[in-house]
Amino acid sequence: MTRSRKRSKDSKPKQIRATPKRVCASCHTRKSPKWRRGPDGEKTLCLHCGDHWEKLERHKKGAEAEGSSTNIKAPE
Ligand SMILES: [Zn+2]
Repeated sequence: MTRSRKRSKDSKPKQIRATPKRVCASCHTRKSPKWRRGPDGEKTLCLHCGDHWEKLERHKKGAEAEGSSTNIKAPE
């Protein structure tokens, strides 16, 4: 009797779920409870840097709005 040994080709490569590799664009941390919007788009900054960036942006916009409203151009 000869037993043909069937090699089990059951070694399918495990499908690894593509998890988005998030790295903070500012401090390069990969661990953050939440991800914030940054200059590069949604969820590119960690919670800490995102908050910081948002404040800066608000400050910028606020300054711009203030400047444009007080600085009225006179039509020539
Ligand atoms: Zn960060």
